Order: sequence, then C-alpha cells, then structure tokens
Amino acid sequence: MTPAELIAWLRETDGARLALLWQQADRVRQQSVGAAVHLRGLIEFSNHCVRQCAYCGLRAANRELVRYRMTADEILACAHQAVDYAYGTVVLQAGEDPGAGTEWVADLVRRIKRETPLAVTLSLGERAPEELAAWRAAGADRYLLRFETSNRQLYEQLHPPRPGRHSDRIALLRRLRQLGYEVGSGMMIGLPGQTYDDLARDLALCAELDLDMVGVGPYLVHPATPLADPARHPPAATGEQVPNDEQMTYKVLALLRLVCPRANIPATTALATLNRARGRELGLQRGANIIMPNLTPLKYRALYEIYPDKACVGETAEACRTCLDDRIHALGRQVGSGPGTSPNYARPATSESGAVRGTCDREGESPAEPG
Ligand code: SAH
Repeated sequence: MTPAELIAWLRETDGARLALLWQQADRVRQQSVGAAVHLRGLIEFSNHCVRQCAYCGLRAANRELVRYRMTADEILACAHQAVDYAYGTVVLQAGEDPGAGTEWVADLVRRIKRETPLAVTLSLGERAPEELAAWRAAGADRYLLRFETSNRQLYEQLHPPRPGRHSDRIALLRRLRQLGYEVGSGMMIGLPGQTYDDLARDLALCAELDLDMVGVGPYLVHPATPLADPARHPPAATGEQVPNDEQMTYKVLALLRLVCPRANIPATTALATLNRARGRELGLQRGANIIMPNLTPLKYRALYEIYPDKACVGETAEACRTCLDDRIHALGRQVGSGPGTSPNYARPATSESGAVRGTCDREGESPAEPG
C-alpha cells in the first residue's frame, strides 16, 4: 500500500467502507496466521525506571508512585501459574530498571526455561547489546521494544535519552534480529503532535522492519506526566492531529494486518481500557490474533501504572483465564496451544518469491481503495 492509500484509510469515516477494511483484515488474518488466539501471560515484574518518557506513568520523575520489584521466586510462581493455565508464553515486562541486572535476568530466564516449557519474551526497554546477547544465550526467545513513533523529532521530545547517551530503538531492533530473537515493536496511536502522515509512516516502518510481532495501542493520558499538559506538548494542527480513540486503533490494527500479514498482533490492554466490554473482541475480529492476560500479582498490579484505569487491574489471573476463554469461543475461534511462534519468524529464510528474510514483505492483499 502506498503512503497515500494508508493515509486515506486512516482518515476514512464511512462505516460501510470501514466494514470492508475489517473484513479484509479478518480474511488476511485467517489466511496468514489462522484461527487460533494465542495467550501470553504478562508479568510486570518491576516498575522502577531510570527514563523520563513524557507519556509514561513509570517515568523516574514520578515520585507519587510506590516502586516495587518482584523477587525471582515470585516471578517463577507466576510462570508456573502460566503453565497451569496452558499459556505457551510469559512476557517479562518492566520499566528500564538497572536493578534487574544482566546476570539476575539471565538466571531468571534460565530458571523459567529449565522448569517450564514456556517461550520467554522480554520487554525491558533499551538495554546494552551485551545484555541482549547474554539473555538470548540464556534462552530468551523474543524481545518487545516499541519504536513508539517514527517521527524522530517527536520521539526525541517524548523519549529523551539517558544523559550522555543516545536512544536508537531502530538500531536495537536490528541488533535483536541479528541475535536471533523473534522481534516485536510498535507504536502509540494519538500521541499529541502525531499527524496522519506520521502514523502512515509508522505503519510503513513496521513493514520495513519485517517485524515478527507488532503491538499498538491508543495513547492514554497519565495526569502525572508532562504529556498531560497541552501547554508543554501541544497537539498537531486541527485536521492533522491523530485522535487517540477506539476507531483509530481498529483502523491501525486492520492496516497492520495487511502490511505485516504474518506478524503476531495483540489486541492490547490499552484498547480494552477504551472499551472494556468489546475492545478485545473487536480487535480480534479486525486483525489481531494475540491476547496478553495479566499474571502480575494483584498487590503489584495497580502500581504498574503506565496509564490510569487500566482494564482488568482488579481481576485475578484465574478470572482472566476463564473470561478470555469464554470470549474467544464466542467469536468462533479457539485458544492456541504451544508457544505460538510468529509465522513471520518461523518461515524459511528465503520465501517462495525469492525475497530474503529481513526485506520488506508486502504480500498481503490490497484492500479496496478508500473513498
Ligand atoms: N520499559 C519498557 C516497557 C514500557 S511499557 C520499554 O520502554 O519498552 C510498554 C509500552 O506501553 C510502551 O512501549 C508504550 O508504547 C506503552 N505506554 C507507555 N505509556 C503509555 C500511555 N500513557 N498510554 C498508552 N501506552 C503507553
């Protein structure tokens, strides 16, 4: 799809035309990744963070937040719970926390791999290449690192580097690929200052990076962050600013499925936060094939407040499990078994068309032209 086509779809408001987009995304999802919905048990093990991201409630300057770091034994107990619920993967996520050191994380990964059959996904922010290599050697399978926005200027405003360092998430994503990780990235939708052109470029970047997993969600305002203040971070011009709403999130999910047909794409908690009753289901019907139920112990969960009023913050892991099973079956889909490796990662290094892995892959169907 050309940038102009992507922008036209992002601006589309006609219900009948959008219904075509949802259908096309659902069809490509079925053809490329099948009917299974894979569940990833999310363990938010530390909310310590050294960064100052303007959008995130975990930012170091937020002194109102009580900080926690789970012990390795607590994390292992959650991983065993994931096995009991027949999840195939655990996602270990945290703020950028030097307290979760190289060896500590490597030991944790080794223990999970030794004691369980789970795939392990890490989402620990921008860490040193040597650490990423050590964790891969310890057995970590996947790494999630969103590029957040492809607009470099906006990125620098919202995501300042650590003093004296340089923040280049795209370079780290390439490094992760070289190390053999299944690589995930993505962006937020509706960041103040983000234009339709920016969002179309975000989508094109996801295709260009040949991502195995793509996570997107609406930007949700956290009052204790600088981005909540429009005087400091004004929106783009009227008509250019992307809204951070539910409809825009579905459009992005559907377009992602078309530009990255074989990627694993979750219906995220941020989407469920905008529509608790139906957000995840509608996401699954408009391109997504993954859900990430929360396994973080309840006593910590409310403290992992990247944004307020997160969906399911009071549900036990067991309640989540039952609720999700019912919702997935009601859609006529089934819960996936096994690790749920991304078909984009699993495919041979050279595709039928002769394209070498790592190059842009746009074999998904083009939907009808937007009106
Ligand atoms: N420290 C890790 C994990 C961050 S939380 C890292 O930096 O990669 C995971 C994701 O939550 C972020 O990548 C960001 O895209 C999203 N996020 C953070 N603050 C948010 C907000 N206010 N609204 C919506 N999503 C947010």
